[in-house]
Amino acid sequence: MIHKKKIRSENRGIGMTSQGTRDRLVETLRREGIKDERVLKAITLVPRHQFVDEALSSRAYENTALPIGQRQTISQPWIVARMTEAILDGRQPEKVLEVGTGSGYQAAILAHLVPRVFTVERIDELLKLARRRFHNLGLNNIYIRYADGHLGWASQAPFDGIMVTAATQTIPQELLEQLAIGGVLVIPVERRGQQRLMSVRRTEDGFEETDLGGVIFVPLLSGLA
Ligand code: SAH
Repeated sequence: MIHKKKIRSENRGIGMTSQGTRDRLVETLRREGIKDERVLKAITLVPRHQFVDEALSSRAYENTALPIGQRQTISQPWIVARMTEAILDGRQPEKVLEVGTGSGYQAAILAHLVPRVFTVERIDELLKLARRRFHNLGLNNIYIRYADGHLGWASQAPFDGIMVTAATQTIPQELLEQLAIGGVLVIPVERRGQQRLMSVRRTEDGFEETDLGGVIFVPLLSGLA
């Protein structure tokens, strides 16, 4: 009985992790230009404090990136919202791939919006923690894979959306090939010494790029760790 109660209060959050604190974050995101109500709703539903170390939970609803160990970070909520908005692109995708599971927060947001979410991570330690979080939150529409995400997830392609949450020098060809026609790839790309968040849409005859603005991400690395 006591045990049950504890789990419930953890999921709801108290004080700095309460629903009210989450709602204030959503108001900040709305003020800073996030318009897709579906995305804002998902942000209110996902307890971000459960995706960071307990010592940082009081800062979980600030609009900032936070360390998650292994020299990686959980992205700033505004960036998560912006990338999610870009990948939904006013449509209802059925199948989305994320490269760079990290804490699992971005995948959890997507899991509230898309029927099937595939996510790939190259650091086993992070993937184990993320898997536990998905389980605890009952998110059973997230499929995870320990692999180098440069190669995407060929056996599950094509995807209506692909999101890369680490920065690349060049857009991996495999990811472009795994996009469905009409699908969108959202990826931070280094251009002239600066990272730009690019959206690339696959059309009947090729690819259309849109620059969504300057960003700061950890690098997309090769191989497994
Ligand atoms: N989306 C994450 C934030 C990710 S930080 C979240 O919501 O918390 C970037 C992540 O990309 C890190 O976990 C890093 O290990 C991972 N990464 C970097 N290169 C990768 C690669 N080639 N394949 C898969 N994951 C990669």
